[in-house]
Amino acid sequence: MHNYDVIVLGAGLAGLSAARDLAAGGADVLVLEARDRVGGRVEQAVLDDGRIVQLGGEVVGRAHTAYLGLVAELGLTLVPSYVAEPGIIARSTPEGISAGDPPHWFGPHDEVCQRRVTQEFVDLARTVDPDDPWSHPEAAALDALSVGQWLRSVGATPEVVRLWEIGQLSLASGSVERTSLLGALRKNAAVPSAGHYDYEDWEGLRVAEGSATVALAMTVELGHRVRTGAAVAAVDVRAGSSGSSGSAGSAASGPGRCTVRLVGGETLTADAVVSALPVGPLRSVAVTGVSEARLASLHAQRQACAAKLAVAYERPFWREQGMNGLSECEDVLGSTWPQGVGLLSALIPPERYGVMLGMPPQARMRELISDIARLYGPEAEQPTAAYLRMWGTDPWTQGYVTQWAPGDVMRVGPLHGTHEPPFYVCGSDQWVAGYMEGAVRTGRATATEVLRHG
Ligand SMILES: Cc1cc2nc3c(=O)[nH]c(=O)nc-3n(C[C@H](O)[C@H](O)[C@H](O)COP(=O)(O)OP(=O)(O)OC[C@H]3O[C@@H](n4cnc5c(N)ncnc54)[C@H](O)[C@@H]3O)c2cc1C
Repeated sequence: MHNYDVIVLGAGLAGLSAARDLAAGGADVLVLEARDRVGGRVEQAVLDDGRIVQLGGEVVGRAHTAYLGLVAELGLTLVPSYVAEPGIIARSTPEGISAGDPPHWFGPHDEVCQRRVTQEFVDLARTVDPDDPWSHPEAAALDALSVGQWLRSVGATPEVVRLWEIGQLSLASGSVERTSLLGALRKNAAVPSAGHYDYEDWEGLRVAEGSATVALAMTVELGHRVRTGAAVAAVDVRAGSSGSSGSAGSAASGPGRCTVRLVGGETLTADAVVSALPVGPLRSVAVTGVSEARLASLHAQRQACAAKLAVAYERPFWREQGMNGLSECEDVLGSTWPQGVGLLSALIPPERYGVMLGMPPQARMRELISDIARLYGPEAEQPTAAYLRMWGTDPWTQGYVTQWAPGDVMRVGPLHGTHEPPFYVCGSDQWVAGYMEGAVRTGRATATEVLRHG
């Protein structure tokens, strides 16, 4: 039986970018992907008129250096995202629709309060090392607090807490009441900027050819090294010499030491295994030969569940009302933003995902589009195409983006993002805050580590 140097589990951005660098480094690498397509949480559809619609990961920021570097290597083009769109933001709340800043519920002192607590948050974030938040002298205490508790402890008014909450749910990354302060500070510290979640740094750019094209371009380069329809059921890194290999790159771990079993029973061997699976699906893979501490750490991590709606219109009619298509919502929708000309994206946050599950599937689209019509008027009821992806309950994702609930940073601990050769781990969950940057950054760093050990 053929023995690979490295088997990579998962053909998302992390697995593909790891495999691409491994192949470039001379390794005999195979990528195993459960779905019949590559890309994982990046996926796109092409409309009849040629517009490309992103159903998953979409925008990046100027601070996302690993992703930007990869895009340049692939010869793809970066253009400004929705952040550059002129017009004002809309807010949909039980009181009605309002537009612009400050939000309609702010009283005379709330803006000053908002500026003060934001500055305190940014200052506190500067005390956290994003690569080692556990070394902070107050790490456990900061992790035990939710962002909501901390806001109130520093005197944030309920109106200011409400603004943080609507903002957090618009990103669909979980309520401020269920987000660890240390996790949030770590995320802010990972992309240092003057403010809190600077939109240019995090979301100001997009790939003109479509963000899923990044995954497709890597797959073309990798060719026969990517195998789809290959769901992994088990990994054993103590398997011993079950294969034979004359290839390089096997000195440290020994040939055939790792065994990977597919759902259908087929068994493959390799000198090293790179798991590039999201933390949810990884929990369903039987991993043996890896330390209890590592498995406990990997299995302690959670994801925020979210759904994404992408709706295509013939024209961006919201502009005529002075709107930029960006909204923050307290409906089932958490937010909308313009994805491209006449294209709106929307997220359904974890706190409202259950509402979606509880309704008949055929009613979901209608209700979500009526939320958009509430924001932008009846023309929104007539899309030319609409896509709803329930990522939270997709068996191969089981989430959306990594979430740090209070206590989770300590529970996952300093093994986060580290390896146990010949078992390596990458993926957006292994970075501070998920995102496509996390996938590419950890994927490429893992390839470097594997090659170093080889
Ligand atoms: C709706 C949505 C919107 C987003 N928006 C943004 C955004 O605008 N900007 C941004 O930066 N990020 C965004 N993200 C996050 C970003 O898309 C992800 O963090 C990133 O793409 C994850 O890459 P990954 O390779 O780590 O994981 P994935 O893309 O999840 O790849 C993992 C792969 O493993 C496969 N797999 C799972 N189980 C098995 C198994 N047992 N055997 C074999 N294969 C398996 C999966 O099918 C998948 O292909 C968004 C995500 C979603 C869902």
